[in-house]
Amino acid sequence: MAAQTKNDRAAWLQGPSARCSAVPEATQTPWRIVLLGAPGVGKGTQAELLNLRLGACHLSTGDVFRAAKGRDACELSPAMKAALEYMRRGDLVPDATVWDMVRERSGCLRCGGGFLLDGFPRTLAQAESLKLLMGEEGLPLTAVVNYELPVNAIVARLSGRRTCETCKAVFHATERPPKTAGICDRCGGKLFQREDDRPESVSIRLAAYDRSTAPLIAFYKNLGLLLPVAATGSPEDICARTLSALTAWRIRTSSPALDSAPARPNL
Ligand code: AMP
Repeated sequence: MAAQTKNDRAAWLQGPSARCSAVPEATQTPWRIVLLGAPGVGKGTQAELLNLRLGACHLSTGDVFRAAKGRDACELSPAMKAALEYMRRGDLVPDATVWDMVRERSGCLRCGGGFLLDGFPRTLAQAESLKLLMGEEGLPLTAVVNYELPVNAIVARLSGRRTCETCKAVFHATERPPKTAGICDRCGGKLFQREDDRPESVSIRLAAYDRSTAPLIAFYKNLGLLLPVAATGSPEDICARTLSALTAWRIRTSSPALDSAPARPNL
């Protein structure tokens, strides 16, 4: 598990014509991981920590929408403007808009450094589109990590979450407070509460998760890719748990002893 120079994910956040500041080193067996779990379970924080350990790039669809929010309205397509309105309410953006955006950035999925998909796929239609694309490209997913946490803990995490305006580092008002209130420890940027972390949006997001995203657990279980991980404890504890689960998973799924087991589909 190689450490990696921090990448600004420019090609993902700004679009395919942008160049990443540090392209991840290609490895023979890149980690291609989907992070599943309800909003607030800590997927973004884990993606950041796992990126440092696995080298795979953190690809969050929510971050692409938030990056678009900071742009001039005249630079945005009508579909993107509509997407930002869905996001503001806490609703899911329509599949067609999300898929167009991901497909446009499919170079990031082909990257030899691998990826950690955070917040995508979020519906069965998105999961089917990803499966098709990865199948066509001959790029199998390594695993789908499903972070599990009781709903009361999820609500507490979402309501206390604070994000840095500049570097997007994530803090929590009580569980992971910054050294100075309202200021990012990492870059000195201002911390803010995401519009969709306000109580009125949180209940809509949790309902959208139950309705649209929870069915992905069975989808990936049927494909033999689901790796459940408890999302309790500190971010570092959860990361350590994820890394040991992934290591055991890779040994198990690449073991010759599995030759007699049904082949895992080429996702
Ligand atoms: P996140 O940061 O992943 O919680 O995403 C923030 C918001 O962006 C979500 O509440 C949705 O409005 C929108 N969004 C992000 N990813 C997706 C997706 N894969 N499908 C639909 N909407 C998405």
